[in-house]
Amino acid sequence: MTHKSGFVNIIGFPNVGKSTLMNTLVGERMSIITSKAQTTRHRIRGIVNGEDFQIVYSDTPGILDAKYKMQEGMMKFVNSAIKDADVFLLLTDIYENSEKLEPVLKKVENSGIPIILLVNKIDEGEQEKVADIISAWKERLPDHKVAPISALHGFNTAELLEYIIEKLPEGEPFFPKDTLTDKPMRFFISEIIREKILLNYKQEIPYSCEVVVEEYFDEEKIVKIRALIIVNRDSQKAIIIGQRGSAIKRVGIDSRKDIQAFIEKKVHLELFVKVDKDWRNDELKLKRFGYLGT
Ligand code: GDP
Ligand code: MG
Repeated sequence: MTHKSGFVNIIGFPNVGKSTLMNTLVGERMSIITSKAQTTRHRIRGIVNGEDFQIVYSDTPGILDAKYKMQEGMMKFVNSAIKDADVFLLLTDIYENSEKLEPVLKKVENSGIPIILLVNKIDEGEQEKVADIISAWKERLPDHKVAPISALHGFNTAELLEYIIEKLPEGEPFFPKDTLTDKPMRFFISEIIREKILLNYKQEIPYSCEVVVEEYFDEEKIVKIRALIIVNRDSQKAIIIGQRGSAIKRVGIDSRKDIQAFIEKKVHLELFVKVDKDWRNDELKLKRFGYLGT
């Protein structure tokens, strides 16, 4: 039996139903702790394991959080999502103007990653209207899957799971399937820090650095975390740190807030910046897998 595993990214504008869909897809099958916060802040939302598959769901804060400048912020996150997605779930609903998705769609299409375009909230639409919307999307995306769903009522979501599995690449699971360890936790934490770096620096910096959680001590009242931000050049290190450490302090404050909300415990976070010229950025997932395995 071959095993499949991959990263599935959910993208879409606010209020189309991303969180609802995630809850439905991850639901009781969730095998790992995720944030209980209602707002969708973190990229990784949950992992669903089957005997012969593992799906790592994440979403893209830039599109769903109105506080980021829409176009610019969104593209930044889409760019980063493209780096590590195996399947895209592009979510819209029966109300949204399809034009609005066009810039994102073009970008995602160019990536060559399979897209599943989902039209949500069909429980609120007339059958005929829904059929028209679906056929318009099918015309726009002839090479990809288009499906109507109701995330809230679970309509078509079981079929969606089957389809996602079909599109997953073959491979070993990224996370242990049976035990809960702090390894996935380290991964989530490095993702949160990465997100804060994305938000706090100009375009070129976030893509040239990597985050590794070196230490994770879960003590009685506090979790002590030490994380390393690895960059390629001294000049990048200076930018990351900022004047008198102001920039990295910002990243630290923002990250700690989210990590605390995520693990629901007081957090002490130490961030360090290191220059490593040999740091390779290309095989992101393998590297992550490497961390997880250490
Ligand atoms: P997000 O901003 O994309 O994460 O959207 P949410 O998941 O927070 O959903 C926004 C609103 O749409 C909430 O009030 C949901 O209850 C509602 N919603 C989500 N999915 C459906 C659906 O399938 N049908 C209906 N009628 N409402 C939905
Ligand atoms: Mg949401």
